[in-house]
Amino acid sequence: MKIKSVKAVSNNYPRIPQKTKPRENDKFAGKIATGAPMSTSLGGRYFHKNDWWDKALRKDIGVGIERDVGCIIEAEDGSWGFGFSDRGRITASIIDDYLAPNLIGRSIFETEKIYDMMTRILSPIGSNSFSSRAISAVDLAVWDLKGKVLEKPVYELLGGSIIEKLPLYASSNNTEWLKELGFKNFKRFISYGPRDGIDGLKKTEDEIAKTRDLIGYESDLMLDCWLSMDIETTVKLSQLLKPFKLKWIEDALISESINQYEILRGRIPNETLSTGEHWYGVYPFFHAASKGIIDILQPDITWVGGLSAIIKIVHIAEAAGIDVILHGGGGSAFGQHASYGLTGISMIECSGPVITPIGVPLEEKERFPGTPVPKDGTITPSDAPGFGLEIKREWFPDFN
Ligand SMILES: [Mg+2]
Repeated sequence: MKIKSVKAVSNNYPRIPQKTKPRENDKFAGKIATGAPMSTSLGGRYFHKNDWWDKALRKDIGVGIERDVGCIIEAEDGSWGFGFSDRGRITASIIDDYLAPNLIGRSIFETEKIYDMMTRILSPIGSNSFSSRAISAVDLAVWDLKGKVLEKPVYELLGGSIIEKLPLYASSNNTEWLKELGFKNFKRFISYGPRDGIDGLKKTEDEIAKTRDLIGYESDLMLDCWLSMDIETTVKLSQLLKPFKLKWIEDALISESINQYEILRGRIPNETLSTGEHWYGVYPFFHAASKGIIDILQPDITWVGGLSAIIKIVHIAEAAGIDVILHGGGGSAFGQHASYGLTGISMIECSGPVITPIGVPLEEKERFPGTPVPKDGTITPSDAPGFGLEIKREWFPDFN
């Protein structure tokens, strides 16, 4: 069956009404990143307030939640698949202008070939970032369509669910609320960067110590640095936090600075380092895995190139003897299917798209209709065809 059309679309699906009022003491209520700092760390060189992130990336240049980009691919029999990424008009124009004309008329079952074609079409202008987002949305739509036509959930297309209960971890600085929600493993975001000096290091140590006290040593605890550190401060941090047995230190350095990560690895060989949510395509992952620079790879399925890229990355990681845990994997049907269908993925992250304000049940979280939420300490992907989203074609008008 052939592809009839490929379109970038806006997402106008009906929002889930949040019936429960957040408790008043929720200082993070309404915050997209559930309390991620971005204060003196990454933005600290130039900005001093939490809201710089929202302003710079979500409003002023018109991207963010309202500028998420969908992709609808229709087959000649009228069946259709849906994929998803973000970053607004730029991503949408790459889908419509570069990718769509080259994909119409191809078989809907050619996921491997279509992914390869897309990366080669975009390679001359750079297949990273926005290009990679466009590839992701299209690739996910092809997989969704393939599943729908074959009447199989995507994880079945991958070979079937590999585990009954994949361990979850939740990301937010409000650990008490995460505990109340039933999560057992926790990640915090760092609030102090290199410019905060010894005082910042002490404050981070204090935060981690308090969190460890709260959760005990039976739970995993991780620290996400949001690309904010430098080599020297990360080394000091790693030494300082040893007693608290962090499972990993994430995104310590700027994504592209793979040479710095290599030096960092040499300085703290026994620390578990993770990164990759801002890497695109398979090549950075192969480099990091083959050199032993990173221990846990964290690609984002809606940014890195879709499910086809994730499959390749997971196989690379398995061959290298390291782990893959998708960035925000629990927050989308796409990440859930990949995590349950690939043996090299060991945990599933529940972050901003999953976590609710204090007092609000997880079922009331804004999400694509049909996206499962954690229940009884686990997330189970939908077994409906494709990625199992319960969506209607008319909710997705052409992107403009
Ligand atoms: Mg992260």
